[in-house]
Amino acid sequence: MTVRGVAILGSTGSVGTAALRVLARHRDQFRVTALTAHSNAEMLDRQVSEFRPAFAQLVRNGGKECLVEAATRDDVSIVLNAVVGAAGLDATLAALEAGKRVALANKEPLVMAGHLVRAAMERGGGEIVPVDSEHSAILQCMAGRSRGEVRRVVLTASGGPFREWPTERIAGATAEQALRHPTWQMGRKITIDSATLANKALEVIEAHHLFDLPYDRIDVVIHPQSVVHSFVEFIDGSVLAQMGSPSMELPVLYALTHPRRVADSSVVFDPVALSPLTFEAVRHDAFPALALGASAGRRGGAAPAVYNAANEQAVELFLQGRMTFGQIPVAIAAALDSLGESVADGREAILAADAAARTFVKERFA
Ligand code: MG
Repeated sequence: MTVRGVAILGSTGSVGTAALRVLARHRDQFRVTALTAHSNAEMLDRQVSEFRPAFAQLVRNGGKECLVEAATRDDVSIVLNAVVGAAGLDATLAALEAGKRVALANKEPLVMAGHLVRAAMERGGGEIVPVDSEHSAILQCMAGRSRGEVRRVVLTASGGPFREWPTERIAGATAEQALRHPTWQMGRKITIDSATLANKALEVIEAHHLFDLPYDRIDVVIHPQSVVHSFVEFIDGSVLAQMGSPSMELPVLYALTHPRRVADSSVVFDPVALSPLTFEAVRHDAFPALALGASAGRRGGAAPAVYNAANEQAVELFLQGRMTFGQIPVAIAAALDSLGESVADGREAILAADAAARTFVKERFA
């Protein structure tokens, strides 16, 4: 069996470190050939001594160009993109143009520029395999089925730390409260996105692009235990779900080996310990960021990029203590009202919409 070279972009984050734990168990099939990290030099050094990649760089030192360099190397066949936010766009585009498999944890580029990502894939012959647990679940449930047999997909959402809070209390939540996610251990940005449900909005748009599904066939249900990772309902009424303990190691491993499965017994499944499994409707009045994102996806054009950038900027301001939790969706809605109709025909126009939305949020709300 040939050993496949893997580049990890964002190797010191929660997905990157989960990926390295997986890769350490499968050295007979994969070799870590490139690592990039944002700024954690100490952890990157430790990873380099353990995995001996041919390429390793900090974005803080080498600039964003090192992401593209790592993603397009000849000794890399799989790029695990676990960069946070819009910064991962060029690396995803370049990897797809170069014919690589992109194991995609960095959903924001697909949200902001889905049609560019698809065009790069078609030109270069690359492929995207999602690492996001919900999309990995959908991919696994749809394996071997034709798109025409799918009635709809239902993404599960944990509901975040404020699932049971009264609506009026949520607006005043602190960063410390928002960072306490009930089921998943993740980075700060995605943890805030999970608390506002903006993460689920990004995932609805991601599902639209990954599976070529219209928005009216993508639904969301709250599932606090994060054990059912998503559902696919077929035209005959039958429903498949993919389940597992909430560990990123499972979708990372599957993204590396898809469509095959390889033996790995490190994550155990105990249905009794994980019981009970419950499902609830989304409280849209309490979490307006979800519907805002889904409607931005429907609008298309620059709207998804504006949604994503306004959200990234608002989350940053919230984490800096310069914006309240309740202002995050307000800022996103205002940015969409003001900039959502912009044209977005290419990379430059999308990046311009992204920049305009960030400036808008900073000027209005900081
Ligand atoms: Mg997810």
